[in-house]
Amino acid sequence: MTDETDTRTLQNFIDGAWTGSFDDTLLPVVNPATQETIARFPRGSGADVDRAVAAALRAQAEWSALSVEDRVARILRWADRIEEHTDELAELECREMGKPVDIGRRFIAAGVAGLRASAQEGLSYSFETSTDDPGGGRTQVIRHPVGVAAVVTPWNFPVTMVLAALGPVLASGNTVVVKPSERSPLSTVRLFELLDLPAGVLNLVLGDVHAGEPLVAHDDIDLVHFTGSVAAGRKVGAAAGRSLHRAVLELGGKDPVIVDDDVDVRSTAEAVAFGSFVNTGQICTSMERIYVHEAIAEEFVEELVRASEAYAYDDGLKSGAMMGPLVDGRQRDIVHSQVTDAVSRGATVRTGGRIPDGTGYFYPATVITGVEDSMPLMTEETFGPVAPVAVVSSFAEGVRRASRSAFGLALTVYSHTTEHLEAAKTIPAGVIWVNQWQGGGGAATYEPARASGMGATGATASYDAATRPSTVHTAAASS
Ligand code: NAD
Repeated sequence: MTDETDTRTLQNFIDGAWTGSFDDTLLPVVNPATQETIARFPRGSGADVDRAVAAALRAQAEWSALSVEDRVARILRWADRIEEHTDELAELECREMGKPVDIGRRFIAAGVAGLRASAQEGLSYSFETSTDDPGGGRTQVIRHPVGVAAVVTPWNFPVTMVLAALGPVLASGNTVVVKPSERSPLSTVRLFELLDLPAGVLNLVLGDVHAGEPLVAHDDIDLVHFTGSVAAGRKVGAAAGRSLHRAVLELGGKDPVIVDDDVDVRSTAEAVAFGSFVNTGQICTSMERIYVHEAIAEEFVEELVRASEAYAYDDGLKSGAMMGPLVDGRQRDIVHSQVTDAVSRGATVRTGGRIPDGTGYFYPATVITGVEDSMPLMTEETFGPVAPVAVVSSFAEGVRRASRSAFGLALTVYSHTTEHLEAAKTIPAGVIWVNQWQGGGGAATYEPARASGMGATGATASYDAATRPSTVHTAAASS
């Protein structure tokens, strides 16, 4: 994408056309590596939302009347076009939120694969089932599309988060209004430029909470798929409750890792460094509480510090950059204040922990030991490249301490002891990774525990969430 395109003013995409906002207030998109404004976009308004929801409502009957095969084929064509533009999308993500291009490419490829797989799941999903009643009648369950869905996304995986939500929602016959994060609208706009769906099926409203709030509370929205922070998720859930429409909430985490005494220390420390520092720690399932068995703790910390050296920060546009900046100054302040607070209460920084001089919201890969579970660094989401290590005297202590959290998104366990792995599976979490992180097949289904969210997704559960069952009882034919 050219510089000229990057400094443009972005527009909404409604009813198949690019259109201005009813509110002419513009907000900047700032490159966090250079602190330069690279584009502007409307902050959004209820009137924009009304226009987009009306377009989605108009398009819904025709879209849902298509066969599921036809809808899926159209989604797959869009996925092909997105795939062809992976490099360009990764560069846009890098410029709007800092993710290194090399890493962005991998996650966008995963997002496209996820869009394809989740749309194709619709080809075998039971939209209609029928059973014979004992008295000779028939009971039919028909799963209808819910209607119009709102998809609201965060900035940490701008492309992937949009794609992750859309497959089942669209394939089920719903139409959609997407509201991307105000911190990363550029790559989402590009996704819509590549769109290959009938007008009104997929609409885009840009903006911050001025667009988000009226969208999730809109009377003509039937499903909200929200990915973001716990604080905003509570408000979205409350708005959905007032309007009595369904909400799937995928929220923040404070994910624990338990490292047993029977693991290969070096490779496990390298895996934990990756889980703590990739995407500059800005992943909902980043490793943010590390419980290590005392028998290997000293060696593990040494290896973790050594592994952290591979995560030098740089402008993500540079080839080979492992870690870009944090998304903005506000996020860096949150990260650094948790680190300084932990140090003031007795924790020790083993590497990193300082805001570097110069331009860009960079923060170094940081390893901290001597942390207590009561510190904000261990209780609140950090969303930065910080690996806090606590030493435990047994695996059971690790399980106990990992369980004590307001969050329940995911958990990672490194162990080769069967009973330990079984014990770890009792920890409340939507996803449990064993001797790996972020891996897994497509049949996954999960619902976050505690404050990390609400509503099961993945595989058929995403279709259950995107459809409303109704039952038809037909009497036996009279003879
Ligand atoms: P955020 O909650 O600030 O914003 C997310 C989106 O919600 C943005 O588009 C924002 O404009 C919108 N929004 C904010 N307040 C709203 C309101 N009251 N009503 C409607 N919309 C509103 O989150 P963020 O800073 O963009 O993203 C980071 C957060 O997202 C982290 O907590 C991270 O853990 C979480 N996250 C979760 C997952 C998951 O799958 N569980 C994935 C990625 C990110």
